[in-house]
Amino acid sequence: MAITRRQFLKVCGSAGIAVSTSGILFPEIVKALEKAAAGNPPVLWIQGAMCTGCSTSLLNAVHPSIAEVLLKIISLKYHGTVMAASGDKAFDYLWESAAKNYGKYFLVVEGAVETINQGKCCLTGEKEGKEVPFTELTKYLGKGAAAVVAVGQCATFGGIPSARPNPTSALGVGNFLKDNDIKTPVINVPGCPAHPDWIVGTVAHALMFGIPELDSDGRPKLFYGTLVHDNCPYRSYYEERKFAKSFGEVGCRVELGCKGPETYSDCWKRGWNSNVNWCVQNAICTGCTQPGFPDNFSPFYVKTTG
Ligand code: SF4
Repeated sequence: MAITRRQFLKVCGSAGIAVSTSGILFPEIVKALEKAAAGNPPVLWIQGAMCTGCSTSLLNAVHPSIAEVLLKIISLKYHGTVMAASGDKAFDYLWESAAKNYGKYFLVVEGAVETINQGKCCLTGEKEGKEVPFTELTKYLGKGAAAVVAVGQCATFGGIPSARPNPTSALGVGNFLKDNDIKTPVINVPGCPAHPDWIVGTVAHALMFGIPELDSDGRPKLFYGTLVHDNCPYRSYYEERKFAKSFGEVGCRVELGCKGPETYSDCWKRGWNSNVNWCVQNAICTGCTQPGFPDNFSPFYVKTTG
């Protein structure tokens, strides 16, 4: 069964609402994607200043097993946390894969780029006896990629590593590449962490149909095209001006610090942990898919919007 772009977009768009799981990853869809993705160039996943939360989020993809997602759908050939190989052999393989597929592979970057001291506060390995800072790795691999997918708030907009006072001069991958005059297209998949559907859906779209339609912050509209506030189950309380004053009280959470009115994502329909929950259901939206997080959204539990 081949899958058309229209069918793919429909699956991505409807994921989570009724099925209480990650709709993108149903076995039937995987089979179709697997067929469509066969022979596609590899995906290389590198990690800079981060907490591995986005990788953990991806590993939370339950339908089907994560192995199928990584191997069959997104042809993941290098991932420092997940792969069994380690040390020089693994690192050499990364460079070899990039050289062999120059101009064709997709580069996923998780984590911000720390630029202070020639990038030496974030080292990734050694090549020919010399340390390789994440800055150099990102430049080299970024230049040779067909496209870069920045995954998570840190890789997209700098996130927590770049929060004030930003001691390591960290920044997002798009800005870093731009500063170094590297023109490879960058797709931003923000979130702290990014939802597994956003990661798999974006990479699968790039592999099979090219770069998805992006908003002005470089995010796929497919996943980030709606305002949390406009779709929140508490929206009617907001209209009635019925505001919760403490957690557990019925009402809209804007007085408790909810940043839903200025945050774009489809968390509201996709849910987390196989659609068991999402931030606003038990707490508040902290604005983690937006540029400027966390500084522009802090303190989280204080009303700054609405
Ligand atoms: Fe929902 Fe937050 Fe908007 Fe209230 S402010 S309606 S809790 S998104």
